[in-house]
Amino acid sequence: METLLQTLTDQFIEREEKYNAHNYHPLPVVLEKGEGVFVWDVEGKKYFDFLSGYSAINQGHCHPKIIDALIGQAQKLTLTSRAFHSNLLGEYAEYITRFFGYDKVLPMNTGVEAVETAIKLARKWGYVNKGIQENKAVILVCSENFHGRTVNVISFSTDDSSKNGFGPFNEGYKTIHYNDIHALADALKDKNVCGFLVEPIQGEAGVVVPDAGYLKTCYEMCKAANVLFIADEIQTGLARTGKMLACDHEDVKPDILILGKALSGGTLPISAVLCSDEIMLNIKPGEHGSTYGGNPLACKVAMVSLQVLKDEHMCENAETLGQYFRERLTALQSPFIGLVRGKGLLNAIIIKHPKKEAAWDLCIEMMHNGLIAKPTHGDKIRFAPPLVITKSQIDECVTIISKSLQILA
Ligand SMILES: *Cc1c(COP(=O)(O)O)cnc(C)c1O
Repeated sequence: METLLQTLTDQFIEREEKYNAHNYHPLPVVLEKGEGVFVWDVEGKKYFDFLSGYSAINQGHCHPKIIDALIGQAQKLTLTSRAFHSNLLGEYAEYITRFFGYDKVLPMNTGVEAVETAIKLARKWGYVNKGIQENKAVILVCSENFHGRTVNVISFSTDDSSKNGFGPFNEGYKTIHYNDIHALADALKDKNVCGFLVEPIQGEAGVVVPDAGYLKTCYEMCKAANVLFIADEIQTGLARTGKMLACDHEDVKPDILILGKALSGGTLPISAVLCSDEIMLNIKPGEHGSTYGGNPLACKVAMVSLQVLKDEHMCENAETLGQYFRERLTALQSPFIGLVRGKGLLNAIIIKHPKKEAAWDLCIEMMHNGLIAKPTHGDKIRFAPPLVITKSQIDECVTIISKSLQILA
């Protein structure tokens, strides 16, 4: 029986590897269904999802309200292009700008497109409002950043595997150390700097949480230097860290806010850039756009996805259960957990083990025991379940993690 079941999973994987690009290294699990915090594989085995689509599924898999909105709108109107108006774009724009307290939104699709949009906005503002000489604008970025995969965005990545073989790269970026206010102070002396692009917590780097006060200090330093503070909240935003935005923990309101991932509850690629009129209205008709950006289906889905976060108190749940989860993990006192870190339900552990593949091996064991998570940068494992998880489910998951750790002994 076991070999037969194994074969089914293998068949799916083999087919995928034969015809699909090998640009990822997934766990050997083939999923076919999801509901709330759970996913099921093709063999019918059930798992806790501790990745949540890299935090795109904060609202839980196939949230009924989001799926209803998706189906209802899909049967009515899905795309107009921006050559014409739709009955939903204005409603959505009003909804999301009020939700986050900004003048305007610019709707895009994937996260990286929103990052590109924010870069364009910052540069244009630099030339028009700050008076930087044409083509001289500099954007400050952080070491170990992750902002997506376009050639422009990897131009300022510090991760070799993201860059190798993809050059030549674009200019106009300066990298400073993350979580280092002195590095920022130094870099801000350059009058050509128009923006500082930062992740409030570095997700892909392994959930690197900066020192308390870092974001606030950075924001104030940017203000003093007449530089835009640009927050990439694609992974940290939308209740994931226990507040609607991770910047809310330090009462920072970014000049440019970038959202994606959970803006659709995991159903469609929907991203958004929010800022003031002063910044946004520099972009005139024809100067930027996207065929699918702001389509009626996305507008509808995004409104419901945001409303669900609020109605179901997902910030509060992430805050309370995140704290509880970290306490429980720490209390395990496992010799193989070097560090537990995170905010809300965006967490990671660092595996301490002589074997290089220890984190991968642990993920395989947790998978066997009914919990799926993925190692990042070799020795780190991200734990980020959907925000609809309950306390007793967290207890169950800690038991799975604890039991699985034994294979490292
Ligand atoms: C995922 C992510 C992106 C890129 O989003 P895509 O939708 O994959 O293009 C950008 N920034 C951060 C912080 C992310 O986590």
